[in-house]
Amino acid sequence: RKADVECRLLVLGSGPGGYTAAFRAADLGLDTVLVERYDNLGGVCLNVGCIPSKALLHAADVIDQAQHASVYGVDFGKPTITLDRLRGYKDKVVGQLTKGLAGMAKQRKVRVVAGTGSFVSPNEIEVAGADGNTQLIRFEQCIIAAGSQALKLPGFPWDDPRIMDSTGALELAEVPQRLLVVGGGIIGLEMATVYRALGAEVTVVELADQLMPGADRDLVKPLADRLKKQGVSVHLKTKVVEAKAGEQAIEVTFDGENMPDANAFDRVLVAVGRSPNGGRIGADKAGIDVTGRGFIEVDRQMRTNVPHIFAIGDLVGQPMLAHKATHEGKLAAEVAAGEGDPDKSREWVARVIPSVAYTDPEIAWVGVTENEARAKGLKVGVGRFPWAASGRAIGLDRTEGFTKLVFDEATHRILGAGIVGVHAGELIAEAALAIEMGAEVADIAHTIHPHPTLSESVAMAAEVYDGTITDLY
Ligand code: FAD
Repeated sequence: RKADVECRLLVLGSGPGGYTAAFRAADLGLDTVLVERYDNLGGVCLNVGCIPSKALLHAADVIDQAQHASVYGVDFGKPTITLDRLRGYKDKVVGQLTKGLAGMAKQRKVRVVAGTGSFVSPNEIEVAGADGNTQLIRFEQCIIAAGSQALKLPGFPWDDPRIMDSTGALELAEVPQRLLVVGGGIIGLEMATVYRALGAEVTVVELADQLMPGADRDLVKPLADRLKKQGVSVHLKTKVVEAKAGEQAIEVTFDGENMPDANAFDRVLVAVGRSPNGGRIGADKAGIDVTGRGFIEVDRQMRTNVPHIFAIGDLVGQPMLAHKATHEGKLAAEVAAGEGDPDKSREWVARVIPSVAYTDPEIAWVGVTENEARAKGLKVGVGRFPWAASGRAIGLDRTEGFTKLVFDEATHRILGAGIVGVHAGELIAEAALAIEMGAEVADIAHTIHPHPTLSESVAMAAEVYDGTITDLY
């Protein structure tokens, strides 16, 4: 069969990984086709992930701050929430970004093909459009960026709209009176934060013995304390065994050490992780190896076992984060464009990838966590600066946070950092830079930080470690 479209590079999927790869490749002169099954470019992150969740979290923050302002003698009264307008705001934010991407694709002459792509050979993908028509695209090189989708717990009545994944929760169809969140990870807790601020009674169940497993326990505590104060009911070491769609409510059976008293909920959000789409693109027809869980393994240049096919983003492994996907996308495009030119051979060199939970307070970490350091038997020391001693945090009336830096005891180089508190996500990048540059404690402690800022806490944590600050406790 003759190909309908021919190109040098085909990018499958237009999330942060895919659009970054396609735009970079086009900028480097490659004739590029971008295949996307949904109407809008941007993937999970822009359409149903990072961006809409942060727009809603901003609204949640405004509600909370307005209510808290009576502490300063400023009273706004009880908020009235018009859900249509809130939804409209979120959609406007998303629309602005996805339209921007469409314009950027056009400007670069990246040809966007709408439809679901599936490999038919190592150099061809067939794209099935929504209208039932198919197109055969022949490529010399390919970058797979097909992302991931929410894990659906089996046995749940998924055809009932009251059972939601994160995409359903972001649709904001209503504010349920009683919301159950299954999974106390980043996505579950961000959504719990939004719905609680909008007035839902929120219950969270988590299988592990702490919220946000993966982050150090001390970082999670200020968030857990605040959720408790706000009336969010959190149940650790507990799982859902069954959920049934009753007429009045979703009836849930739990098992575990801290089961909730309630078992009837108006809506249930399942946020128990994401599954990579590697097994859903006909990879076998191209000879690409896919793991049992659906991940595609790649080398340090993002190549799969088929050398002219690259893979990036959520489907190549953890952490499933947008900034990892964009970094990988840029790298894969540059390697693809520089094929055959040893001067242009690049590979993955980033040491660390920061993680941020945009909860209230935010939790951010990068590099080696204290837990990991201890588990690996690394000899580390920790500098910890409590925000109760920060003028800026006191002025913000948010002193529950702290900044901690993890140093190698032998070299005094920074290995990791964890920050909890308002704007922690904005503060963690400095630590990422310090780790990438191999900074030692003195580099951080002696860098003059502006006063009064929360960013000072990074330098002060270094000063706590090197012994310059001694009178904190
Ligand atoms: P995706 O964004 O998943 O994009 C893949 C694209 O490929 C999709 O558009 C899909 O339609 C398309 N596709 C798949 N298969 C095919 C096919 N066969 N044919 C055609 N097209 C196909 N990360 C952060 O870093 N920060 C955050 O704050 C954050 N918040 C999040 C909040 C939520 C609720 C969720 C769900 C995720 C969040 N993430 C966040 C994770 C982030 O969204 C992902 O890591 C990121 O989108 C991955 O990018 P990607 O390019 O690998 O794939």
